[in-house]
Amino acid sequence: MGVDVGGTKILGVAVDPAEPNVIVHERKVATPAGGAAALLAAIEDLVTSLSPDCLALGIGAAGLVDLDGVLRYGPNLPGAIEVDFKHRLAHVAPAIAVDNDNTCATWAEFRIGAGAGASDGVFVGLGTGLGAGIVAAGAIVRGAHGFAGEAGHMIVQPGGVECVCGRFGCWERYASGAALARMAQETVAAGRGLAFMATAATAADIRGEDVTRAFRAGDRDAAEVVDTMAGWTAQGLAILIGLLDPAVIVLGGGVTEELGEDLSRRVASRVPEFLMGAAFRPPVPVRPAVLGNRAAAHGAVLLALDELS
Ligand SMILES: [Zn+2]
Repeated sequence: MGVDVGGTKILGVAVDPAEPNVIVHERKVATPAGGAAALLAAIEDLVTSLSPDCLALGIGAAGLVDLDGVLRYGPNLPGAIEVDFKHRLAHVAPAIAVDNDNTCATWAEFRIGAGAGASDGVFVGLGTGLGAGIVAAGAIVRGAHGFAGEAGHMIVQPGGVECVCGRFGCWERYASGAALARMAQETVAAGRGLAFMATAATAADIRGEDVTRAFRAGDRDAAEVVDTMAGWTAQGLAILIGLLDPAVIVLGGGVTEELGEDLSRRVASRVPEFLMGAAFRPPVPVRPAVLGNRAAAHGAVLLALDELS
């Protein structure tokens, strides 16, 4: 089984080990308030209800997960600090793998999704925030402590927009659903962007979804906001391309699900202006993810099965 532990929901998926690429059961529950104990109880309940004799359990958690399977810090999981998933759930399954949720999504997309076949690649999930993962020489890159791939908090604009991490100018403030919302609010403050207000009572209520919906309806202000975000996305990707020389970039997350190729095409077209020697290197394809919001849970179970073999 694979479990994706997010800030608002916990998704569990079950696969048959003989055919792990196919999800046979799934169930979603709301993430409980009440800290680590409530979180662990909810996961245990989910696992036993979906798969009473679970052979291998993979957990993808939103936050910093170390190499021992401990969630050190999960800013979107209230009270979840120093949660030792691996030991506290040991009675639920004989084999347990725990990773960051984006690491799990990365593995799924590069094993069976949009990046399949590439041995070097980068996954960037554009959701409420921005999470990323790295595959190099066919393996997930975890770093010395398990924290590799935290690209969302690379500072791309010193002194820029304040971030949830307490610093200023992080990439995810410029490339995410939250970034779309902020840019749309700025458009409204400048006296434009009427389409963003279709379901929002005030400008402060505008969400990323209001922008993607207006974009799909052909709104010009929305196209401008999406173009701006695509440029910022490309700027961060160029840093990762310079550093890692990937064969392919996979864009995932809810924003990409809404915008698909309209976004990936715009992003790909902007990368060269930020990349050293772009004219002398093959362009790196930017592809939308294909596994949707099951990627992290599915990748978690694939990683757990890897531990068994
Ligand atoms: Zn940050």
